[in-house]
Amino acid sequence: MKNIVTTLEQILNIHSPSGYTINIISHIEKLFSNNKDLYLKKNNKGSLLISFSESPKLVLSGHIDTLGAMVKEIKSNGTLEITQLGGYPLTSFEGEYVTIRNSKDKLYRGTFLLNNPADHVNKNVRTEKRELDKMSIRLDELVSSKKDVEKLGINVGDFVFYDNRFEYTDTGFIKSRFLDDKACAAVMIELIKELLTTKIKFNKNVGFYFSNYEEVGHGACAGIPDSAEELLVLDMAVIGDGCNGKEDHVSICIKDSSGPYDFLVTSKLKALAQSNKIKYVTDIYPHYGSDGSAALFAGYDLRVGLIGPGVSASHGVERTHRKGLEETFKLSLSYIKSYK
Ligand SMILES: [Zn+2]
Repeated sequence: MKNIVTTLEQILNIHSPSGYTINIISHIEKLFSNNKDLYLKKNNKGSLLISFSESPKLVLSGHIDTLGAMVKEIKSNGTLEITQLGGYPLTSFEGEYVTIRNSKDKLYRGTFLLNNPADHVNKNVRTEKRELDKMSIRLDELVSSKKDVEKLGINVGDFVFYDNRFEYTDTGFIKSRFLDDKACAAVMIELIKELLTTKIKFNKNVGFYFSNYEEVGHGACAGIPDSAEELLVLDMAVIGDGCNGKEDHVSICIKDSSGPYDFLVTSKLKALAQSNKIKYVTDIYPHYGSDGSAALFAGYDLRVGLIGPGVSASHGVERTHRKGLEETFKLSLSYIKSYK
């Protein structure tokens, strides 16, 4: 666990919007592919299951896909209109630097802006509602027409990656976009490493599912092994008015927009947090669905729980604290060790 922030920074630096997760999945695969104690299974849709037995009963799940965008239209003035991958407020992405990947894997830089964005020219710059058809990417290329852009090999459907602006402060805060859910993916990677080296006995019927379509709703609709009886979802916890979440705590979610989580699982999580002196809160998330609900709606018969570190300004300029990752790690590990 001591390298958790480094692990997190590494995976944050691999762009992985929903639909383009090949690179990050192969990165995680490579971390563990030489280990004989592990079973690795890549699913047809590109997600990855790493388990300590062939048919795990307890599966921990986290998603490695993030929010992002795609080129929707090349405008006559040489800017790019986008379509969103996942749901997020445009206000918090306005002004962000981006990378556009064309189909030949060539990368271009740009900035996501309001159309006619100069304060000295457009009198409505401050009041205009931020909507997709009023915003576009200004490419860092000498282009002024659709033809110019097409000559670069940029086309409709090309992926757009937002910069994450990673920063680790000396006060322990991790500031970066896409801590949802790479914070938890990093916790899962560190958990696998811990289990590979620990001398403490644990039930080998445990697996880790790296889901790759969560932000668009169908991450864990497939890929969970049929042997699974319990799914512990690790995903960012909400922070905001009326909610209990904190950046240096792990939240145990009792209910989100899709309904209550499993009573036995949440009760056990609370008891373990208390007996292991883990800093936790219980909470209800007002606008939230997880891979747990995706699995249940897909028809899996599972007991599902949801935990994760508090993430401030989620789906925007996110921030969490190292302690939140550590508490999530500790609660997950005690859950795995207590699993019979
Ligand atoms: Zn998430």
